[in-house]
Amino acid sequence: MSKEVIYVVEDEVNIQKLVQYNLESAGYKVLTFFDGESALEECKEALPDLFILDIMLPGIDGLEVCRKLKENPKTNNIPIIMLTAKSEEFDRVLGLELGADDYIVKPFSVIELTARVKAVLRRTSRENNTPQPDVIQHGQITIDDTRREVYKNGTLIEMTLKEFELLKMLMLNKGRVLTRETLLEKIWGYDYFGETRTVDVHIRYLRQKIEDDPNRPVYIETVRGVGYRFNDKAESV
Ligand code: CA
Repeated sequence: MSKEVIYVVEDEVNIQKLVQYNLESAGYKVLTFFDGESALEECKEALPDLFILDIMLPGIDGLEVCRKLKENPKTNNIPIIMLTAKSEEFDRVLGLELGADDYIVKPFSVIELTARVKAVLRRTSRENNTPQPDVIQHGQITIDDTRREVYKNGTLIEMTLKEFELLKMLMLNKGRVLTRETLLEKIWGYDYFGETRTVDVHIRYLRQKIEDDPNRPVYIETVRGVGYRFNDKAESV
């Protein structure tokens, strides 16, 4: 098997070198960039298996690079890990719903970074290899997995990749309670470092999109102290 390729966009040379050294030691091929423009330019030549994007960059920032990658059909399936300097940026990353697959707050340990990279790559290769039903439907909600689209009553609902995966996981297991830890592991792939708050934040966004009244959810039920369940008895309202 050929080495998986990672593009690292980071303007601080020490961090760039540290990330490169550790990922190369873990068996990946790493290309480094000091700004987003040069990384995007390189994408015209060859595409990586994963991007690691710092947010604060000279020129266009990491959020803008992420947006551009997710807008382009050639690159929108490539996973992205964002590096954030402050934990306050965490909410910004989530809030902007850019579709980044993961984020790491600086300063981070290289062990954590490598674990996150492995988890994201393992998850995306598994996604590409496991056969699953193309269309999942319940009540007014329909998921078209091959097109990555969600419809409510026939109307397309815009979703981020994570919201889509969360809804799909819940619907595939409808009637069963999934714990926050299970959802975190299956969707975010955090084996050891997860924050279950991430799940709650995404459930909130998801409810705003699919529930008639997000404060009185019909489809996605909270099972107090345990997790979430897609209500298999939810009828069209
Ligand atoms: Ca920076």
